[in-house]
Amino acid sequence: MSTNTTLHDTTDAGQASTNGTTTTVDVAVVGAGFAGLYLTHRLRQMGISSLGFDVADNVGGTWYWNRYPGARCDVESIDYSYSFDPELDAEWKWSERYATQPEILTYLNHVADRFDLRRNFRFETRVEKAIWNESSKRWILTTSDGDDIDCRYYVMATGCLSVPKQPDITGAERFAGETYSTGRWPHEGVDFTGKRVAVIGTGSSAIQSIPHIAAQATELTVFQRTPNFSIPAHNGPPVPDKVAEIAADRAGYRERARWSRAGVPLEASEVSALTVTLEERNAAYEKAWNTGGLFSLSTQFNDLGTNKAANDTVSDFIREKIAGVVDNPETAAKLSPYSYPFGTKRPCLDDNYYAVYNQPHVELVELRAEPITTITEKGVDTSDRSVEVDALVYATGFDAMTGALVSVDITGRDGLTLAEKWSAGPKTYLGLTTVDFPNLFMITGPGSPSVLSNMIVSIEQHVDWICDTLAHMTASGFELIEPTSAAEEAWGLHVNDFAGLTLFPQANSWYMGANVPGKPRVFLPYVGGVDGYRRICDEVVERDYLGFKLAGDNREQLNDGVVRELQPDVTIMLELIAELGMPPLESLPVAEARALSDAGKDMRPPGPDVGEIVDGTFPGAVGDLDYRLYRPTSPDQGADDQRGIVVYYHGGGWVLGDATSDDPLCRDLCDRTGAIVISVDYRHAPEAVFPAASDDALAALAWVRANAEELGGSADRIAVAGWSAGANLAAVVAQQVRGDGQPPLRGQALLTPVTDGTTVRPSMNDNADGLMLTKSLMDWFWDQYTDKAQRSDPLVSPLLADDLGGLPPAVVVTCQFDPLRDEGNAYAQAMAAAGNEVEHSVARGHIHTSVPAVDALPTGAVHRETIAAALTRFLA
Ligand code: FAD
Ligand code: NAP
Repeated sequence: MSTNTTLHDTTDAGQASTNGTTTTVDVAVVGAGFAGLYLTHRLRQMGISSLGFDVADNVGGTWYWNRYPGARCDVESIDYSYSFDPELDAEWKWSERYATQPEILTYLNHVADRFDLRRNFRFETRVEKAIWNESSKRWILTTSDGDDIDCRYYVMATGCLSVPKQPDITGAERFAGETYSTGRWPHEGVDFTGKRVAVIGTGSSAIQSIPHIAAQATELTVFQRTPNFSIPAHNGPPVPDKVAEIAADRAGYRERARWSRAGVPLEASEVSALTVTLEERNAAYEKAWNTGGLFSLSTQFNDLGTNKAANDTVSDFIREKIAGVVDNPETAAKLSPYSYPFGTKRPCLDDNYYAVYNQPHVELVELRAEPITTITEKGVDTSDRSVEVDALVYATGFDAMTGALVSVDITGRDGLTLAEKWSAGPKTYLGLTTVDFPNLFMITGPGSPSVLSNMIVSIEQHVDWICDTLAHMTASGFELIEPTSAAEEAWGLHVNDFAGLTLFPQANSWYMGANVPGKPRVFLPYVGGVDGYRRICDEVVERDYLGFKLAGDNREQLNDGVVRELQPDVTIMLELIAELGMPPLESLPVAEARALSDAGKDMRPPGPDVGEIVDGTFPGAVGDLDYRLYRPTSPDQGADDQRGIVVYYHGGGWVLGDATSDDPLCRDLCDRTGAIVISVDYRHAPEAVFPAASDDALAALAWVRANAEELGGSADRIAVAGWSAGANLAAVVAQQVRGDGQPPLRGQALLTPVTDGTTVRPSMNDNADGLMLTKSLMDWFWDQYTDKAQRSDPLVSPLLADDLGGLPPAVVVTCQFDPLRDEGNAYAQAMAAAGNEVEHSVARGHIHTSVPAVDALPTGAVHRETIAAALTRFLA
């Protein structure tokens, strides 16, 4: 740590180094909730001075503020509690499965007492401003009591759900009765006995409080803008089996939580909701419903969060449950969510919520049908009526995840404020740090799993990561840490890519910033799981703070780089394949390599249905070969309206595969283009070496041209397409048939083509291993098909052709992490330079095998669409 700050523990908050109104300290901690308390404890253990602040007059954070009736956690208390101190963990006994707010607050007070944490905090003190001082390399914070805090490190432990949303309803200030906000509930409680009450909002806070308010109020009117999916909590004493499981191996249980997806050890299903019968599915849902809990339903099948049709099954189930509980069918219909998939807005856990609407004094107003026009002195006016009330309860939620961070006026390097930097949405590296704000850390910041997890697990992980980082910096003579722009930019892409794999972006949720007018629509948390995220954070450290700049008086370290560049579904697929432990294909005899390659065919998704599939043979260059024809689903067209035809060459390095081996891709192309796709076989090496494959490829095109009408297509509208070695053949064929007197080819679609066997380009080495197509496998393919001397022949290295002019329009898709990327790029550029029409895209984060993996890799779909759109254009 620095030489001019206090390294030791501050026995009285900040006193040791207070000078006038400026207090000097190593670490300023904003927030005294779960995060600020644990951070303070760890810093003290490390001998690092810290001073914490909270607007509240005591510890507790969320559990200090949210004192509305019925407030409880929705993650079981056994899980929703600290794990850092095994004795604390073992000694504390929760009285209920889901503890009430008072019990959780008592727990946090107990923790504060046990570790004597309050002396490191100034309560009733808001941090209002923070400015980075570039010359001293320190932060200067200004608090609501006018003091300045001079600190080396500044940690925002300010919570994801700590800034209640300002009432954004016309006339809110007019109401003359009692007004309450669930997120700022009076400490003395509220008695609604004998009162007419309105609750605005039907999120978790409302759903927890409404049954309690209904029990007191004479009239309760609930104003609902969007209905929520709510699951019964089935609260009671902690579940005995779970208590016993933890008691038997507390450390093991906690460790499993750390390496789980949501921060709670759960069985993850590997079954799709769409592959079981209705009875089986409903039995699973019924069991989950009766078990209760936030994760019970969502973990029944593996595709509820990613597949809308699968999600519909659980959404329907809950809607049926609502209809079963609520007597009035109209009210049940209003309470049933249809506008977003289950789980894409935070589901609620309830205690008899839906049944409340069977009580005669409780009414539901559906704001989509009758919006609030204004709040008046007496109550709420909607387009249809005036509802007079004595008390108005806002359960309208929070400016989530970014609200508390940008509500402090934080100015980083060169006068840039955090609010300005984040005006189009937050940008962070790992949800922990942000460029231009050195030495600023956020706990559970945007871009980390945070609110999608048991937050205590995520909080502990962030606190540990920050403290371990500070320890590393101290030991290494660094005093400054800041992420690099490249790392931050790539992290933002990764967070978005992951969210794009899920149904989350389909909801107008606070996860998307959609609840706050004017807030940018960005998916805020990281959906890659607590386990995956922890692995990434650990990897960043193991790779010597990859993506960070570290600096001290005498040394600097810039380790620029990107921790996750592959598309998330590609990473998952590679991990699954790695688990199979298959031998490298090139280590096997050819027949075994083919058998192993073929074995994968049965395990992949089949691709879309097409109208008709016809298998047949055609005359190759030296004998009959197989083809498979895919005809689109739309009605047959007559002779005057014949379809375009795509002659497709399969991948497999001229050694593996056959006319059916790229079946899902051919179906997909047929489905997207409406063209006939004919996948043709060709002779394979080593039995038939160069130029056998290109001879057969040419023969196939000649046969299709000659028989186009019989095949249902048009000889004037033919394009060639292929993947990998098949794209090589398509490129070769396109060159060979230039000006052959036949109707010219309408286009060529080249997906990750092999184009040059003579040059090793950087991508071949950069992506040599571990990404499906390896350098050694590619070498093996070449060796099977050609002699080295033959590799400059344009019949196998089309990039080396003397003349690349006059080629049909091309679409070329290469993949960022493909050994063949650079030769594919070079071919696209060379064709364009020769005056051809070329559409070229590089599939970010993809590998050689990504794009043909129909339905297995959703992020590949956009690139298949690029190819299909180009083919459709070519064949029009
Ligand atoms: P918080 O507890 O929000 O504490 C942040 C503190 O920072 C606040 O006390 C605030 O006053 C203070 N602060 C903010 N800005 C400033 C400033 N500028 N100056 C001074 N002080 C400042 N998560 C779960 O995982 N499971 C649950 O069951 C669950 N239930 C929840 C129930 C409710 C009602 C709510 C609102 C949230 C719930 N959450 C739950 C999320 C919950 O916020 C986290 O679990 C956790 O309590 C957050 O702790 P924290 O310390 O990060 O932040
Ligand atoms: P919320 O989920 O954001 O719900 C706010 C509700 O108010 C929504 O129904 C929203 O409708 C409505 N609303 C907002 N502005 C409105 C307006 N101008 N007019 C009419 N209606 C309006 O907030 P919350 O209930 O406080 O919960 C926030 C999060 O805190 C939860 O998702 C959860 O993570 C956590 N929490 C957990 C628990 C628990 O069970 N442990 C309890 C409370 C909170 P729209 O949906 O249309 O925006």
